[in-house]
Amino acid sequence: MKAEIIAVGTELLLGQIVNTNAQYLSQSLAGLGIDVYFQTVVGDNPQRLRQAIEIGRSRAELLVFTGGLGPTQDDLTKDVLADYLQRGLVLHQPSMDKIEHLFSSRGVHMVESNRRQALILEGSVPLENTAGLAVGNGISEGGTHYLLLPGPPKEMKPMMEEAGLAFLQSILTDQKPLYSRLLKFAGVGESSLEAKLLDLIESQIDPTIAPYAKEGEVAIRVSTKAGAQLEADRKIDQTVEKIKERAGEYLYAQTDIPIEEEIVRLLRATKRKLASAESCSGGLLAELITNIPGSSGEYTGGVVTYTNMMKHKLLGIPLSQLEGEGAPGAISESTAALMAERVRELSNADFGISLTGVAGPAESEGKPVGLVYFGVSERGKATVVHTMHLSGDRSMIRIRAVKAAFYRLWLSLRD
Ligand code: ATP
Repeated sequence: MKAEIIAVGTELLLGQIVNTNAQYLSQSLAGLGIDVYFQTVVGDNPQRLRQAIEIGRSRAELLVFTGGLGPTQDDLTKDVLADYLQRGLVLHQPSMDKIEHLFSSRGVHMVESNRRQALILEGSVPLENTAGLAVGNGISEGGTHYLLLPGPPKEMKPMMEEAGLAFLQSILTDQKPLYSRLLKFAGVGESSLEAKLLDLIESQIDPTIAPYAKEGEVAIRVSTKAGAQLEADRKIDQTVEKIKERAGEYLYAQTDIPIEEEIVRLLRATKRKLASAESCSGGLLAELITNIPGSSGEYTGGVVTYTNMMKHKLLGIPLSQLEGEGAPGAISESTAALMAERVRELSNADFGISLTGVAGPAESEGKPVGLVYFGVSERGKATVVHTMHLSGDRSMIRIRAVKAAFYRLWLSLRD
């Protein structure tokens, strides 16, 4: 099946927002074995949107729209498609009930235009919006399939993953159902993973292997069509083995979980506890770990010791270690080791981990931006410090440092 993505929104044409939805949808569709031949961007203009539909129909069997499902007058996608297909728009009562309930529970008066979000094309399949109000639509007519998704990525992605996927599977009726597995990687960049797997990605037709960008994470989706789950698992397992031969040391899960969730699971399975002392990452590590429900059983807690004074007062690191002529400084291997050891001792945890480095934009202590030390102190073992040279802006360096630290911790826990 050939597909075209049509992103609707004048903001996209003006360069005010980046068309990240197209990237996400291209990856999703590739993972499903659907070929995307064109991506189109069109403004909130009925004539030009109609033109885009006409052109799309002439060169693809599946048109995937994003944007223009909202309540305002410039949200036109449904109206234009309904007019093009000469169908009416009808109220989808469950969506209307949800909208009315939301407004009444907030004690806010609902304006009439909000009803527009509950309209669907006559004869279409409503696609539930679990993260917002505008209902999506799936419709097939005259050999062309239309999938209408909202613009906001936080609404579009779950709709695509759930109701959108079900609609696509229903139109791929002449084929066997599609099964897929998401492989999650850490400790490796997206492009180097792709380089390692390039020959497989390019040569493999069944199952297909498609890179899948998730925020701050690296993932691959392996998909195949099969008569039943068991047959699919067997085919996917064979491909996963080939992927493992090239990149097995980075593969931490065969399901869609962040690495911190796998770390919490491993800590729980081995009945061990973790504590953290952070400097340059400012508490990001603690935030990610505590995002995992129930992590209080495995994570004793952490400190953000940003200044030398706090490293000294809270962790008992001698000031002579941190400053003054000839001192190693806060950004050093030995300080990272001390931070990890002290926080582990303080909380009587099995692992103490630390992060100290330069997130930028300016260098610090004469050390370059991106230099980050990560210490692991494990009960009964010698403390290990890893040195990382990371690229990116301040926030990217922080997230990369934390994820790299998680990767090293995962390696120690796995052994
Ligand atoms: P709403 O109910 O918010 O109006 P909508 O489905 O009508 O949703 P739009 O009005 O087109 O969608 O876009 C809403 C917001 O979604 C945009 O301001 C932008 O932040 C985001 N968005 C829209 N299209 C894209 C896209 N192609 N890529 C990334 N973000 C997008």
